[in-house]
Amino acid sequence: MTETKNFIEQIIDEDLKTGKYGGRVHTRFPPEPNGYLHIGHAKSICLNFGLAEKYNGVCNLRFDDTNPIKEDTSYTKAIQEDIKWLGYDWADRLYYASDYFEQMYEYAVQLVQAGKAYVCSLSEKEIREYRGTVKEPGKPSPYRNRSVEENLELLEKMKNGEFEDGQHTLRAKIDMASANMKMRDPLIYRIRNAKHHRTGDKWHIYPMYDFAHCLEDSIENITHSLCSIEFENNRPLYDWFLDQLSIYHPQQIEFARLNMTYTVMSKRKLLKLIEEGYVSGWDDPRLPTIRGLRRRGYTPSSIREFSNIIGVAKSDSTVDYALLEHVIRKELNKTAMRVMGVLKPLKVIIDNYPEGEEEYLEAVNNPEDPEYGTRQVPFSKELYIEQDDFMEDPPPKFYRLAPGCEVRLRYAYFLKCNSVEKDEDGKITALHCTYDPATKGGSAPDGRKVKATLHWVSAKHAIDAEVRLYDNLFTKENPENSKDGRSFEHFINENSLQILKNCKLEPSLQEVKPETRVQFERLGYFCADRFDHSSNNLVFNRIVTLRDTWKKIQKRLAKQNKKK
Ligand code: ATP
Ligand code: MG
Repeated sequence: MTETKNFIEQIIDEDLKTGKYGGRVHTRFPPEPNGYLHIGHAKSICLNFGLAEKYNGVCNLRFDDTNPIKEDTSYTKAIQEDIKWLGYDWADRLYYASDYFEQMYEYAVQLVQAGKAYVCSLSEKEIREYRGTVKEPGKPSPYRNRSVEENLELLEKMKNGEFEDGQHTLRAKIDMASANMKMRDPLIYRIRNAKHHRTGDKWHIYPMYDFAHCLEDSIENITHSLCSIEFENNRPLYDWFLDQLSIYHPQQIEFARLNMTYTVMSKRKLLKLIEEGYVSGWDDPRLPTIRGLRRRGYTPSSIREFSNIIGVAKSDSTVDYALLEHVIRKELNKTAMRVMGVLKPLKVIIDNYPEGEEEYLEAVNNPEDPEYGTRQVPFSKELYIEQDDFMEDPPPKFYRLAPGCEVRLRYAYFLKCNSVEKDEDGKITALHCTYDPATKGGSAPDGRKVKATLHWVSAKHAIDAEVRLYDNLFTKENPENSKDGRSFEHFINENSLQILKNCKLEPSLQEVKPETRVQFERLGYFCADRFDHSSNNLVFNRIVTLRDTWKKIQKRLAKQNKKK
């Protein structure tokens, strides 16, 4: 099979052929340390580190810490932890944009000396007004023709903290009539008399993204600088700075951002959900953050596989959340132990099972892989089954347990319900059943069939657990885009978390470690909570149900395509 290469790989192949970068591939992942990473960042991480791996190159981790106001060292720690967890390693190539502040300043001085930059004393608002619109050219700043000497003197004073925030800016002298608004004398430096988390009080001016980013890439000898599509119009500016300074010139390449259904992706919006208490924190298992996904039970390999499947393209699209679920389901189907747990227990008393007796039955650990072997599950006179698996007065086609009906207990026996016990309020408290000892292992010697197989646990041996069931955080596929202009918090799913406190699990789960993933038969894949779970307090999060909605979506899409 020939591999189809994505457009970035095609560019790299061409560059390797022409020897543009001497055969090197050197990428970087440049997060701003102002929040935690989400699955969109994971796409960029997998892409940058993945390409470096594939082409025998290297990938830097670089903190783009050019904005002192929103950044913090707690974020730099968390970001490193998350990238490592995803399975990537920057070795000794951890860099900070703030380490280049001196060098950047020198470059700015060079631009001023070459008459390519000037100190502008318009206010922010005036700069906006002078910039013009898409249809109209901008007006030159009245400060555009300051002499080189005056500019140098002012810039020096800006650096030394002699002005207030906003009093002056340093701007590139390009073209106020450019069709590309980004080229209309963009800002290079602004005054920020603020403490930076790494450089402290040293600096009073901070470089703007467009100036800083290309220099960071150039200083680090990056070959292919991958960024998301909204920076397409910034590329001429990226090139302009490097060309004016005549320094090493990486290639900026834009790719489409990842968006997903039923969630929001920007750090600002995620922060809002946290601050307003819709979720418990950056690691809430409902969030698309790396730590949220981790806590929910996603594996690093599933996130890498997801990134691989979605690929890279140039135009934005929204990926169905069901695809991510499909990927983890597929992985866990291969790797997760099957166990039995009852989420909403209903007591079953087997009247013909000998009092005080118990036995151990063999259960298969993973039908996908015989290597996982079998285990012994205790069985006794009193069991728990799922409340939903019983109906006193069932409608037609209800094949589970009902008075007079027979079902199979997984790995055990056929079971028939005879009568129902109720409390004063008429609520069912227990079922009286009989079992058929001749059906041990799950089939009847007389060949009679049953239509359902239920999971169960022995009441005497069961261990108690809390189980957290999660659903989409939003009720709307695209909560950011409502026709009536309502903002995304309006579409929060009130039922996105359901906590069940009285769940009953088979005893083999007593000693599992946090972050262990298992399949509860018939119920889905679950993960022992990373923080709250211990052998004294069992807590499991449902990662996904067993129902694969992605397959359904694919069928629907195939049908739609046929119609077209
Ligand atoms: P957000 O908009 O969520 O705050 P950001 O772009 O401001 O994200 P950065 O820390 O600047 O976050 O991003 C680091 C890198 O991750 C950038 O190269 C950026 O292009 C990439 N990135 C961020 N969000 C996505 C996304 N949704 N899909 C793909 N790449 C992304
Ligand atoms: Mg950003």
